[in-house]
Amino acid sequence: MKIGLIGGTGLYDLFHTLTEQCIETDYGQVTLLKGEFEDKEVYFLPRHGTEHGVLAPFVNYKANMMALKKAGIEQVIAVSAVGSINPDIPIGGLSMPDQIVDFSRRRDNTYGQFSADMTYPFCPDLQKAVSTAATENSQTLYENTTLICVDGPIYETSSELQLFSSWGMDVVGMTNSTEAALARELGICYSAVTLSTDLATGFAPIPPDLGTHKRVAAINKDKVKALMVKTLALLSEQKSCQCAKSYNEYMILINN
Ligand SMILES: [Zn+2]
Repeated sequence: MKIGLIGGTGLYDLFHTLTEQCIETDYGQVTLLKGEFEDKEVYFLPRHGTEHGVLAPFVNYKANMMALKKAGIEQVIAVSAVGSINPDIPIGGLSMPDQIVDFSRRRDNTYGQFSADMTYPFCPDLQKAVSTAATENSQTLYENTTLICVDGPIYETSSELQLFSSWGMDVVGMTNSTEAALARELGICYSAVTLSTDLATGFAPIPPDLGTHKRVAAINKDKVKALMVKTLALLSEQKSCQCAKSYNEYMILINN
């Protein structure tokens, strides 16, 4: 069974050994790092490159998701850093959004073949595994949250955040809506776990900055890894979700 794990470089040492696998796609070449976890093949995809150099709006999302598809991966869990809008989610808090508001406007978030159903953007099977993992680990996981995705790389204005808050948004990020849309178009199960690395500007006296973001990510690295290890152990090939429905219907249509 093959599982994709998208995240920062801090997740590398989940695996004893990693082998590089270069995958050519129509959108560019992607290097996946393959590791073994129990009886599973886990393909790690460093979203921002191995040096954490590519900012969120410039990530080649279409190549990344297509590479996972070409590698035969049907389930992907993405870890990302976000800012908390909901004051109940503290810095260092892990949350698992179940809805997205895509506020990005400059992203190429479609392969342009058909209109996929995005009513529920995340895979319920993967979400169940993550939720169970958190419970078994006695970890706090904020569930049923809504993530609003912005283009970045600049952070939001105070008025934007107040608007997002009035809309009931819980966290703000820059990557998950694009990945979720492309995953759905490819029929890949996708779920996200977010780590709040700041209280978004407008709600805190200290504005977000890269140094704080990196420091919080480093402090909470083991917590994220523990959740991922338990989740990987719980994942199975048995699926009850409809994540691949739009994709499968489209494939039947073009093959007949
Ligand atoms: Zn699914």
